[in-house]
Amino acid sequence: MHDVLSIAKLLCLMGEKALWQPRQEWARNIKPGVTLDFRLGRGAKTYHLARDKDHVIVLGVKCLADQLNSRRTACKWLSAKEITKRKYFRGQLLPAELLVHILCHEFAHFVQVLLGRRYKGSVHNKEFYEILDRVHKRGHADHLLKQFRMACERQNISLTFKARPDGHQRFMVGDRVISRVKSGFVQGIVAKVESAQVTIEAEVNGNYGYFAVEPRFLEQDKGQHRHEIEGYF
Ligand SMILES: [Zn+2]
Repeated sequence: MHDVLSIAKLLCLMGEKALWQPRQEWARNIKPGVTLDFRLGRGAKTYHLARDKDHVIVLGVKCLADQLNSRRTACKWLSAKEITKRKYFRGQLLPAELLVHILCHEFAHFVQVLLGRRYKGSVHNKEFYEILDRVHKRGHADHLLKQFRMACERQNISLTFKARPDGHQRFMVGDRVISRVKSGFVQGIVAKVESAQVTIEAEVNGNYGYFAVEPRFLEQDKGQHRHEIEGYF
């Protein structure tokens, strides 16, 4: 079951513990007494707001729900466009990546304002993307993603899109999949979907490349064969 409220709570907690707390001292050296709160908003609006030294990041429940519903609903948001365009999380548009990126995006606004790099009429400016790129390139975003996935697993929260087409269309570009091969299982990411075959990007015996697979040999990777795969690699 999707639980958007549990997810929102987790994201707020991660923002507080993994983003804000380790940087509190650094931030207060720049602006003494600065505070940052993470809150869940009732609508779609997701934003960062600053009133002098008090900052707040609001995650709109409808925005989070869009990231969980389908890739189409997620793509209405700037965050999905950023992941694709700037190759964040290897360009993967999946609920966990989308949700964690939203948190990173809003935190980057906080840093942007703190450093005085948000100007009137210039919100998503070059300076903003320098900060956001750093959040990803330095591995902070990947670390958050890992933490988020683990926390969701512990709480039994599903991280797959709710709306999913039938037939061979059940696979979408960016899905994590598993293909059964003679010697075990291969993990991959869907790169292309055609009616008769699905092309996956995978590592097989140390060789990285693209492989065409019939959809019937593929299944969604939800960690169900994790132990066998670990044995295989
Ligand atoms: Zn923004």
